[in-house]
Amino acid sequence: MSRKPFIAGNWKMNLTRAESVALAQGVVNGLGGVSSGVELAICPPFVYLDAVAAVVKGSQVGLGAQNLYFEGNGAFTGEVSAAMLTDIGCRYVIIGHSERRALLGETDSVVFKKTRAALAAGLTPIVCVGETLEQREQGKTSEVVRSQFLGSLGELTAEEAARVVLAYEPVWAIGTGKVATPQQAEEVHADLRQLITSHFGQAIADGMRIQYGGSVKPDNAKELLGQPNIDGALVGGASLKAESFLGIAAAAV
Ligand code: PEP
Repeated sequence: MSRKPFIAGNWKMNLTRAESVALAQGVVNGLGGVSSGVELAICPPFVYLDAVAAVVKGSQVGLGAQNLYFEGNGAFTGEVSAAMLTDIGCRYVIIGHSERRALLGETDSVVFKKTRAALAAGLTPIVCVGETLEQREQGKTSEVVRSQFLGSLGELTAEEAARVVLAYEPVWAIGTGKVATPQQAEEVHADLRQLITSHFGQAIADGMRIQYGGSVKPDNAKELLGQPNIDGALVGGASLKAESFLGIAAAAV
């Protein structure tokens, strides 16, 4: 089964409003070299979503947020709901990024609640899993990512799971310049695909996009994206320049 390649840019806590608008404009202006068969999203900080929404409107580039809160509304100071995200034009939301898991105490059960809330609002969640260097060196990669997958997504219905994008992001490869080899990444993606098959069935497993994330750049994208179970990329650093984000998008066919 062919899965539509999906490249998403995670801008993290970077850029000013003017820089965000200029970067989004640069991406939209440079789409000529990107196949229309590639799905694209950029995920700016919350406060710039509105400004970026106006730039990407009507283009191939979808808008995503980097987080949400699972409650619908109410006394949750500082939080942002799924409905607020759809209200300003978001189609995607990153959930359970390793930085949030490590620095902000996001657990699998929180990731599960956030994923449910995103799906209920019609957003496409990009749910992240990945092992630390220590876990990899102890030979625990499969155990860790399987446990994160089951804890974060295992209780979804099949209908819900069918709308999830999974991102495998080895923590040791994020922002470090140490990219997983295509073989290392493919091995984990294939393992996750097998888990999805046993948990949700063949059809869901065949359809679910699994992005790779961790120091993806234009010069390593082609080989990573060429692996049978790698269906796209979640891009941090290289998404902060239109040229490199577009270079990665152009490598996805
Ligand atoms: C990320 O944080 O999702 C990421 C993959 O970052 P980078 O591309 O900078 O490694």
